[in-house]
Amino acid sequence: MGGKILIVDDVATNRIVLKVKLASAFYETVQASGGAEALRLARKMRPDLVLLDVELPDMSGIEVCEQLKADARTRDIPVVMITAFRDMARKMEALRAGAEEVFWKPLDEMVLLARLRSLLRARETAEQLGLRGSTYRELGFAEAAPSFGDQALVGLVAGRMEAALAWKRELQPYLSDRILVLDRETAMGDFPNGKVPDVFVVEANLTRPGEGLRLMSELRSRTGTRYSAVCVMLPAEACETAAVALDLGASDLIEAQADPAEMALRIRTQIARKRQSDRLRNSVADGLRLAMTDPLTGLHNRRYALPHLARIANRAQAAGRQFAVMVLDLDRFKSINDTWGHAAGDAVLIEVAARLKSNLRAVDLIARIGGEEFLIALPDTTLEAAQATAERLRRVVGERPVPLPKGTGSIPVTLSIGLALGAGQDSGSVEDLIGLADRALLGSKANGRNQIQIGRSAA
Ligand code: GH3
Ligand code: MG
Ligand code: MG
Repeated sequence: MGGKILIVDDVATNRIVLKVKLASAFYETVQASGGAEALRLARKMRPDLVLLDVELPDMSGIEVCEQLKADARTRDIPVVMITAFRDMARKMEALRAGAEEVFWKPLDEMVLLARLRSLLRARETAEQLGLRGSTYRELGFAEAAPSFGDQALVGLVAGRMEAALAWKRELQPYLSDRILVLDRETAMGDFPNGKVPDVFVVEANLTRPGEGLRLMSELRSRTGTRYSAVCVMLPAEACETAAVALDLGASDLIEAQADPAEMALRIRTQIARKRQSDRLRNSVADGLRLAMTDPLTGLHNRRYALPHLARIANRAQAAGRQFAVMVLDLDRFKSINDTWGHAAGDAVLIEVAARLKSNLRAVDLIARIGGEEFLIALPDTTLEAAQATAERLRRVVGERPVPLPKGTGSIPVTLSIGLALGAGQDSGSVEDLIGLADRALLGSKANGRNQIQIGRSAA
């Protein structure tokens, strides 16, 4: 994977030892010997991660971390702090300053490297999501409003129920979120209202060694819990398990001996991170939906309709069935705009779209493919059934004028339809079929409008 890591330490030999370790794991490194230099380099070079000594000569490493996290340019760079003192208060201070992890010296190389891999992976995912999110923003798609305030759900899974209950008791004073005590089975079961925990805390060794890690992989592979954070709880000395847990995708590690304040802080960090990525994912999904939807009528747009129609055609061919394609165009729509104004024209389009849609089956495709032009595809349909449907659509549009808002009048409107049948065996290309329906539509127009004509291929 690689990546660029900024090493901050005032002792040259420490920097060199780290540089050699990281180089052998294919990381590129940059070095700084003090806090001010570290801040300058971080802003200039945008490293993928910062390894930051807590004890620096010119300013405290914790202050450096705070400044990195306060600056929009460097906020998203993960920070791993390293300290020579086994001091819980200092560790908490570093975590509160926003450090992703704090290690004591001497460093366990295996755990350090596994931690770096895990942080860099998470950063890459966040970056890709963020990138797509910002593309949608640039395209003018609004981002979903952040929903703060609601309680998160935290699920605790320990080998013994009593242990999980004890965690819950200890965490409660520090967390305002809902805490569930789960066993292995309930963690993988169905949750009420489909509301799965935002964060799981899982003991690495449940009733058997490594069982918690297998549970984590299970949770990761299921649709419902795929995006939940999983913190693995394990003894401080279990270095090998720690490295494996991180490589299997643990969001964070919590030492079994950690005090509740630290445990709560790590859980809160995971909740915040999960909410941010949920938000990004939702805005990506919204962006995709918007990119396929016509904003005026809410129908699919042309971009969506053509590939969908191709799928309908392929499926029909595979099954040896028939399907129908219709192109519909409002009659003399320009004069509606001219007479009643553009806003009234829009109201007519919205109403016609709704009437058409509510007279189709769920499997049918309807899209607005032009100003006042619609495309409809009916899978699994004979010519007679398609004709009957077209006739019904023509009728429901023409039989009742479209009322304007606030009782300012109502507008009579009719439409013309061109219909073509795609036969399973030899449907020709989808474009040809649309062309056939288009020519039939022209026939309807030429023949006096408000009617249906059927396109038949020359063959
Ligand atoms: P014909 O019966 O031959 O189809 O006549 P027509 O007037 O419907 O045909 P034409 O294609 O000349 O005019 C279509 C009009 O639709 C022109 C355009 O101003 C209008 N139009 C296209 N998109 C929209 C829209 O989103 N809102 C409104 N209000 N009008 C639109
Ligand atoms: Mg028209
Ligand atoms: Mg037209």
